[in-house]
Amino acid sequence: MNIHEYQAKQLFQQYGIPVPDGKQATTPDSAGLVAQDLGGEGWVVKAQVHAGGRGKVGGVKLAKTPAEVVEFSKDMLGKRLVTIQTDSAGLPIHSLLIEKIYPIKRELYLSVLVDRASERIIFIASAAGGMDIETVAHEAPDQIISVQVHPAAGLQGYQCRKVAYTLGLKGSQVKALGKIMQGMYDLFLAKDASQIEINPLIETHSGELMALDAKINFDDNAVVIHPDILAMKDPAQEDDKENEAQQFGLNYITLEGNIGCMVNGAGLAMATMDLVKLKGGLPANFLDVGGGTNIEKVCEAFKLILSDKSVKAVLVNIFGGIVQCDVIASGILAAIEQVHVTVPVVVRLEGTNVEQGRALLSNTGLNIYAADDLAHAAEQVVALAEAL
Ligand code: GDP
Ligand code: MN
Repeated sequence: MNIHEYQAKQLFQQYGIPVPDGKQATTPDSAGLVAQDLGGEGWVVKAQVHAGGRGKVGGVKLAKTPAEVVEFSKDMLGKRLVTIQTDSAGLPIHSLLIEKIYPIKRELYLSVLVDRASERIIFIASAAGGMDIETVAHEAPDQIISVQVHPAAGLQGYQCRKVAYTLGLKGSQVKALGKIMQGMYDLFLAKDASQIEINPLIETHSGELMALDAKINFDDNAVVIHPDILAMKDPAQEDDKENEAQQFGLNYITLEGNIGCMVNGAGLAMATMDLVKLKGGLPANFLDVGGGTNIEKVCEAFKLILSDKSVKAVLVNIFGGIVQCDVIASGILAAIEQVHVTVPVVVRLEGTNVEQGRALLSNTGLNIYAADDLAHAAEQVVALAEAL
């Protein structure tokens, strides 16, 4: 689960990580008032969306007067922001973060995440902040340092000093960085985060360190035991179809292709998508209807798939283990009728009662193609999607 920058910065403050003076606003007038209240010589207006890369596309603007803050806020609020990290539809801007401007001497990078290879929490830091870390890793890998935290020992002072020296920090800054890293580590553990990223962490002209940006991801499997974090969820920033799927216990992810996929089991869904691609097609979605599939779930799954207008054909790939194939076949027929499916549907069934299931699907007069094996089913669905 993601949260907004302004929420992440509230958490930072609770954990002793310095952030710029600022406040969230949801209207242009209140944004102007926030700027006046904050005082100072200039303000930054930041679009609150669950994506980075805002700076390059007008989602972060520097204002010299409160009137300019109001003007920029009018430009941004109610619009959608398309960044390198969003899809082509972008994300809606419903709120802004207004902050005092701080003079930047240097932009650094600091993040903490779980490294699956070493099975440890690691810190990643770089003196090349401001740009995205993947680019730094690609172009100047020697500029990146990482330290692994031993779970029993916790974050050690020498590890923080190593990062500080690599970042070129001196004197009291070394201690300040240690405090920031310890705050990140404590926050990470206390709230079951999966990543905390500060990009940029700035050094001001007076030598202070401050988190200018803040991004936190939380472990979806743990968020249920953190009601304070769950309360920060903003469904407007998430895919409508993915939200709806969650309500029906379906595991759905929107993709960019034109072949809708309905599969039971995440592994089988991955294999099905691979096969569709191998045969020259592009899946429109990942959809795992789960083990205990029933007619309602199959109907909802069809509705979800077909609400995506780019879907030209649907591939159903169900393995009848616990659920019997004839039950699935009846479910598919009911769904096609209820949902008024007009695109061709290729069905591959395998498992218990497969013969009865196939019999139900043949000669229905509907646009259903019963496939006997998966490779053939994938070929068929790709051909049907291309034909339209
Ligand atoms: P992102 O592009 O979505 O990652 O948004 P950031 O919060 O990282 O802001 C992008 C860039 O805007 C930063 O790297 C800074 O260069 C600039 N910026 C953001 N806030 C301030 C500020 O308070 N003062 C100044 N001078 N620049 C800022
Ligand atoms: Mn950033």
